[in-house]
Amino acid sequence: MPETVVTVAYLIAGVLFIFSLGGLAAQESARRGNLLGIAGMAIAIVATMLGPGVTSYTVLIAMLAIGGAIGAALAARVQMTAMPQLVALLHSFVGAAAVLVGFAVTLDPGMHVEGTGALIHRAETFIGIFVGAITFTGSVIAYGKLQGIIRSKPLLLPARHLLNLAAVGVCVALGLLFVAADGAAPVWPLIIQTVLACLLGIHLVMGIGGADMPVVVSMLNSYSGWAAAAAGFMLSNNLLIITGALVGSSGAILSYIMCAAMNRSFLSVILGGFGAEEGVAPAAGAIPAGEVRSITAAETAELLLNARRVIVIPGYGMAVAQAQYPVFDVTKLLRERGADVRFAIHPVAGRLPGHMNVLLAEARVPYDIVMEMEEINHDFPETDVAIVIGANDIVNPGALDDPSSPIFGMPILEVWKAKTCIVLKRGMASGYAGVENPLFYKDNTQMLFGDARKMIDAVLAELRQNTLSKSA
Ligand code: NDP
Repeated sequence: MPETVVTVAYLIAGVLFIFSLGGLAAQESARRGNLLGIAGMAIAIVATMLGPGVTSYTVLIAMLAIGGAIGAALAARVQMTAMPQLVALLHSFVGAAAVLVGFAVTLDPGMHVEGTGALIHRAETFIGIFVGAITFTGSVIAYGKLQGIIRSKPLLLPARHLLNLAAVGVCVALGLLFVAADGAAPVWPLIIQTVLACLLGIHLVMGIGGADMPVVVSMLNSYSGWAAAAAGFMLSNNLLIITGALVGSSGAILSYIMCAAMNRSFLSVILGGFGAEEGVAPAAGAIPAGEVRSITAAETAELLLNARRVIVIPGYGMAVAQAQYPVFDVTKLLRERGADVRFAIHPVAGRLPGHMNVLLAEARVPYDIVMEMEEINHDFPETDVAIVIGANDIVNPGALDDPSSPIFGMPILEVWKAKTCIVLKRGMASGYAGVENPLFYKDNTQMLFGDARKMIDAVLAELRQNTLSKSA
């Protein structure tokens, strides 16, 4: 395929990616957005395979087959709850690829760029390896934290900002040495800066606490985009530059939106928890006092039957239990009986941006009853029953009134303002941020203990029985 046809194919793929992102902005058009993205990627892969840059089809097809098989096997087996870890791991691959491309172009004996072009090329290589190495190790640490292999509490080393600054300073000095060196590009500055950038990636993400992890995931998504764009510059591949820039900028916008939603400073989070006190154990929040009242599935069904307005607040536990299907059956039944039932979605509910929206869409919950936090938060005082299903941090009142809480300042769903608040979870365990939740001790809170799926199934059975016996 001639170079010009490949360029046109890349351009079409780039436009499809832009439309794909546009589609992904709303639930109604997300499916179309996904299809456009798939079409763009298919065009990009076919054009690259048939383009003039390919020197060995045997290697290309073998690599495509191995990568495709691993990707397909992982995608088929991964649980929805493990998606965030998988995404973090995939970001690490992009970072590692940028580092490898950087070394490959530096060591390539066939690479001859002269004059200013050589300076620019070396600068691109240095930046690509730097961003790639931070993305690689940062994403591996994020994977460990999300998988529960590494503790979610922030690691606050003394003078950690100075350490970060020193690492960046040495990397910049090495970069200048690498760019300005006479003759063949020296490899040793790249090796040292890769090691330093890898350590920096580890340190930056280790310094971020559990509650701020959503921002880290979207931030690493952004870094992986910039790493891909840098690889595009190194390889003079326009499509990689376009795609990398799209991922990089959309990830940065998402990180900013998440920070705003959590009332966190964007700079503070991307600088590895800048602002948290150094060398001090992270705050754990006040220990709540009061009595915990439990409720049965039958009593829950009774409360729901008598409620005119109900708000369902799903969280990570609903994802773990895969309870979205019976939850929707309960919703349908109550709506058929004339109740107003809506869902309240917190921006960081679950373990991935949009996690709850995906689950509810999977269960075919109509989009018009799925509300964002700011759309519904003021409706709790007029609500008869707020039922929290496997959520914890996103409904923790300590975020509003306990300055010692690590999640203090984060806007939350104010479920206790409803007449009755039912919290469905297995026990009294804390959520991802590891903070005690005073909600469980409030006077109008009733705890429905058990696995979300089993308990919602039991509530559904009670509701059906009650409806049948009333109509008989
Ligand atoms: P949380 O992690 O705060 O709480 C989930 C609760 O679900 C737990 O307390 C657990 O309690 C309960 N649970 C677990 N399994 C089950 C089950 N099978 N049945 C019933 N309950 C269950 O989740 P939230 O959604 O409230 O908050 C999300 C947290 O994750 C926030 O801290 C957020 O910052 C963080 N995070 C979010 C990301 C995102 O992008 N959305 C990414 C990374 C982190 P018990 O064990 O007692 O049942």
